[in-house]
Amino acid sequence: MSDLLSLTAAQQAELLESGELSPVEAFDFWRERAAGDDLGSYLWVADQAPDDAGGLPPVAVKDLFCVEGVPSGAASRILEGYRPPYTATSVRNLRAAGAAVLGKTNQDEFAMGSSNENSGYGPVQNPWDRTRVPGGSSGGSAAAVAAGTAPWAIGTDTGGSIRQPAALCGIVGLKPTYGAVSRYGMIAFASSLDQCGPLTRDVTDAALLFGHLVGRDPCDSTSLDYPEQLQRPRAERLDGLRFGVWGLEEEGLDRGVADVVRGTLGTIEALGGGVEVIELPNARQGLAAYYVIAPAEASANLARYDGVRYGPRTGDGDLTEMYEQTRRDGFGDEVKRRIMIGTYALSSGYYEAYYGTAQKVRTRIAEDLKAAFERVDFVVTPTSPTVAFELGERTADPLAMYLSDYFTVPMPLAGLPAVSIPCGLSEGLPVGFQIAGPAFSEGRILDAAHALEKAIGFEGVPVT
Ligand code: GLN
Repeated sequence: MSDLLSLTAAQQAELLESGELSPVEAFDFWRERAAGDDLGSYLWVADQAPDDAGGLPPVAVKDLFCVEGVPSGAASRILEGYRPPYTATSVRNLRAAGAAVLGKTNQDEFAMGSSNENSGYGPVQNPWDRTRVPGGSSGGSAAAVAAGTAPWAIGTDTGGSIRQPAALCGIVGLKPTYGAVSRYGMIAFASSLDQCGPLTRDVTDAALLFGHLVGRDPCDSTSLDYPEQLQRPRAERLDGLRFGVWGLEEEGLDRGVADVVRGTLGTIEALGGGVEVIELPNARQGLAAYYVIAPAEASANLARYDGVRYGPRTGDGDLTEMYEQTRRDGFGDEVKRRIMIGTYALSSGYYEAYYGTAQKVRTRIAEDLKAAFERVDFVVTPTSPTVAFELGERTADPLAMYLSDYFTVPMPLAGLPAVSIPCGLSEGLPVGFQIAGPAFSEGRILDAAHALEKAIGFEGVPVT
């Protein structure tokens, strides 16, 4: 049974399908692995296989997905003890396909962060080096998959929260096209950016999980029917495909990371692909626009946590005082910072100067990417400017933390899909390679990623 650890989720699905492995056996194996996690990856682990466990191995789910009767609090103290009366559509879809919920994974509070250090329940350690962060905000999902305490996981990405932790933990993370996966039942951070997607050991697992997540949902009016049938990625060559490289000359990019990424560009050429440098003239403003738009939307979304509807309440006298005390005690510092920035940016007199300008920049970035995709098939970049940093290294400097998102924010601002795959090591730590494409090009992105993955032959962190 311990050889389940050496199998990908897709390989386990085949054994489940053929009956060589029973759903209960698979669930119990992974339940034991998850319960033994000592990195802080989980906030809750299921105790027994549900009746509908079936054809897919169980899945670890980021805490912000509502699961009926199961603690679901976006790792915030303000939702301590909240057990939703319903289940997120993405999780329902996975369950309908036979994947049981294995556990709820740790994350940055309300998905605000790049290191998992903003969790209300403590940080997560990177399985490659326990003194380092796993990335964020889906840090628990990434660490669990990398350390073999989950066969696969889902997370959410608003500005990089699937791709960056996948990169820092040496696994695959896919941020889908906006609208490909329903957001119903995801505790909202920034609704025009949030998307659910897979964190997996390899590209084939990402395609398999993604195929079960997509689809229009009447409960999310921004969701769409996926326009094509998704196939299992099989490509081994990149002949005729054009890759536009962005950002390799950026100042803040770590040299070791740049070298590994350059090596991957060489691999693309060896597989028959073409590589050219492209300009995205407005993408450098991506961070500035993102850190106005995301907090603005968050300040509105988080207004509902008032001590009345959900979670704990502090103070019982005056109503306003009760709201203030509940929010003061329940929210962490980063969440308060975002609410203040967002409220300020939306306030009368500043609205046009900040929010309006940020929206214009967002449109320009979308136009840059559209123009790029007239010349090339994919835009490629490093996923993160550095490898996993030390726990505590950036907590005192929010701006340094925000720089982690430099390469990942343009795509969600434009609603476009992108994957991060591991492409090598720098200082003994994984480096992620990002491949972005036009809307609904996940099939082609994953195919290209598959060919590269095979040629790179990255070995994950040894797990026992
Ligand atoms: N690190 C970014 C932030 O803090 C992105 C988070 C995310 O994608 N959820 O907002």
